Amino acid sequence: MTIRRKVRILVFLAILGLVPLFNTVYRNNLPIVANAIAGPLDNNQPPSSSIERSLPAANATAASFINAQQGCSQVYPGKITVSFTWQPSGAGEQWLDLSLYDNGFAPGTFAGWGPFAVGDSAATWDGLDSLKTFFGRVNTVTPSGWKTSSTVSFRSGQCPPGHPFPVLSRYVSGKNIVLTFDDCADSGRISDILDVLRFFGAQAIFFPTGQCAQNNPALFEKAIADGNLIGNHTYSHPHLTQLSDSEIVWQLQNGPPQSLGSYWRPPFFEHNDRIDAIAVSLGYTLMMWNIDSNDFAGTPASVMINRVTAAARAGAIVSMHMQGSNTLAALPWIIVRLVNAGYVITW
Ligand SMILES: [Zn+2]
Repeated sequence: MTIRRKVRILVFLAILGLVPLFNTVYRNNLPIVANAIAGPLDNNQPPSSSIERSLPAANATAASFINAQQGCSQVYPGKITVSFTWQPSGAGEQWLDLSLYDNGFAPGTFAGWGPFAVGDSAATWDGLDSLKTFFGRVNTVTPSGWKTSSTVSFRSGQCPPGHPFPVLSRYVSGKNIVLTFDDCADSGRISDILDVLRFFGAQAIFFPTGQCAQNNPALFEKAIADGNLIGNHTYSHPHLTQLSDSEIVWQLQNGPPQSLGSYWRPPFFEHNDRIDAIAVSLGYTLMMWNIDSNDFAGTPASVMINRVTAAARAGAIVSMHMQGSNTLAALPWIIVRLVNAGYVITW
């Protein structure tokens, strides 16, 4: 599977998480139609995520008491949104499986969504067809194996079409968080990061090296056209403390051309009074960070998501890297959780 396809899937899954923000208006008059199913409907079917499939079924404690409530989609006209709640098992990660047709988890006809953290107990799935029967369950995944919850089934109702797509506007709440992306990556990955930001109407600050900007001029012009900002991260990412004044000037003057008169961030976060004075004389404002995603160290996506969202506060600046191995996977989830917590992602 290509990175681009992975991003499309992630983006699709991520928008599902936006629904709680917008689903308060159109609850309409759809009845609660969920019913717990007592029998072992799905116990012979495989789990849906690759992480689950890599593990054996185990005697882990299962999540339980899964329930569902449906309403009219705010995102997909005429479609159904359904909110699942469950009692978490208190162990491992939770994954929500949803059968997309009337056949109860037959192979190839259900999709998984997760991971949710140990204590998470709710999720919303959007865009379901009207007047069909669906099945939901939660898998608990531990290092030693996975175990499914009981299954819930419901028949979807019917909603009038025409609900508009929600629009996020900047500074709506005065509660903004700044995402920053340093260094460089291959053009496909940078493009994917831009796609995710654009999808959510989010704007970030990129700190590419001058070399990176030279190699990807169209990409960073596109980033600016999308409302992102380009900062200066020097030409070749040296240890500035080891350079002469004139070498530092050269490094900054040959940073990304789009960054002139903007923010700068020192490579390796190494700076001192001498370096700061040179940067100020060239018109740059120092921008460090106060939430470290730790993505440069190969941190797992789920850890990054929790780390960033737990530390979130108004005006915070998040440090991320274009080349981080899990940055792209974590990004949609970070945005969704921050937006759901009332933040606007902008600089
Ligand atoms: Zn850097």
